[in-house]
Amino acid sequence: MTTLADPVPGGRPGDVERATALSAELSGRDVHGVVLSYVDTAGIGRVKTIPPARLASAAAWGVGMSPVFDTFLANDSIVTTDVLGSPDGDLRLYPDLDHLVVLSGQPGWAWAPVDRITQEGDRHPGCSRTFLRRIVGDAAERHGITFKASIEIEWSFGQGAIGRGSVGHGSVVQRSALDDDFVPAASGPAYSATRQVELSDCTAELMAALAAQGVDVDQLHPEYAAGQFEISVGALDPVAAADRSVLVRQTIRAVSQRHGLKVSFAPAVFAEGVGNGGHVHLSAWRDGMNLHSGGDRRYGMTAEAESFAAGLLAHLPALTAVTVPSPAGYLRLKPSQWAGVFTAWGRETRESAVRVITGTAGHRDQAANLEVKPVDLAANPYLALGCLITAGLDGLESAASLPDEITGDPARLAPEDAAARGVLRLPTSLDEAVEEFRKDEQLRAALGPVLADAVIAVRLGEIAAVAGLDDEQVAAAYRWKY
Ligand code: GLU
Ligand code: MG
Repeated sequence: MTTLADPVPGGRPGDVERATALSAELSGRDVHGVVLSYVDTAGIGRVKTIPPARLASAAAWGVGMSPVFDTFLANDSIVTTDVLGSPDGDLRLYPDLDHLVVLSGQPGWAWAPVDRITQEGDRHPGCSRTFLRRIVGDAAERHGITFKASIEIEWSFGQGAIGRGSVGHGSVVQRSALDDDFVPAASGPAYSATRQVELSDCTAELMAALAAQGVDVDQLHPEYAAGQFEISVGALDPVAAADRSVLVRQTIRAVSQRHGLKVSFAPAVFAEGVGNGGHVHLSAWRDGMNLHSGGDRRYGMTAEAESFAAGLLAHLPALTAVTVPSPAGYLRLKPSQWAGVFTAWGRETRESAVRVITGTAGHRDQAANLEVKPVDLAANPYLALGCLITAGLDGLESAASLPDEITGDPARLAPEDAAARGVLRLPTSLDEAVEEFRKDEQLRAALGPVLADAVIAVRLGEIAAVAGLDDEQVAAAYRWKY
């Protein structure tokens, strides 16, 4: 479980002693550095690193980092809001010791997610992890509800110039002229044994590293697009699930690099064709009971679970500004590519935005959940989960009614039929998503003005950054960013 208590200057009770013991343990395990990790508004993982000997000091007083990263774009240029984007000020990064992991895939390193507080000891209103902790805490307090979540990870393996044997001399990394291109690292068909064998060594090492890091893998398989794979991992509380999503990607990248491979988690490696999704699995629980199972509504859902799904659907157009945050994401978000681009739901459907998963008879009380598809891995997972939960709870609180199920591909519905059934096409561009987000007062209120303004400013910055580019150039601009 993730602690919901905020960090405090001097450390929470026991933190400094624990960090002192951990730092000795890390040194004994040949760890030389700890990666302190958070994700910015644009979805880029940003880090600082410290030696293990600094861990106790970090637990007490944090590690400094500028708040300016909250308004960084994926290309590292900076936009501003009323309060963010200035060169002034400092924040303290506090490692969450409960989630510190020795990185098997990156020998010599450990990793920990951080929360950010001000030098005065207040919550930083731009900290996405703090936002998610607050949303989860409020849900427990107001509704007695807890959540389990997991984020699927799809990525494309490319032949890489950086890796074993090709790292350059001194501090200069030799890169080939073709570095920005994507050349698939495997040629076997989708889901094929051929591709599984082609990437056998790397993926076996990946499985071993994840197991050593305490990540329970559900499945790993070759996916549809060229060189694409997918991994799904066990569900955790939402904050831990978001941490895990970051950790698993760090591990995939590190292990792949040791095999001379490059990886892209970008939503669209190319402008055309199937992209990389980051589908979110989410279930709401009360007193140990899964609200998505054992109820008297459709497919065993409880009335609350139906309303939760209805809330998700109602807010999805605005949510896409958070769950599909880059212009490249809209190259992926096309009908009939299993990305779920319509506000519709269905049992085990792969074209509606929300897939109701019942699980197998006999296992439903554990397995039933909702899968939200219009999410990619450019999304900050803390913001995405916090906003999805906010949307669902809005439906639950207002006892929203879930419309009729849609089976098959909603793209085949005649426009009048779709409209009559409440089936809307999700935004087709980031501009449209931002307009929807601006109109969604509940989402913006949940985020608070600092984060909501950061989301808008960063999205507008990304839109401006690709002005005049054609689709292939947009895909290329984000191909290696995530
Ligand atoms: N690659 C698809 C996407 O972009 C998802 C495929 C699947 O359902 O696993 O969302
Ligand atoms: Mg998949």
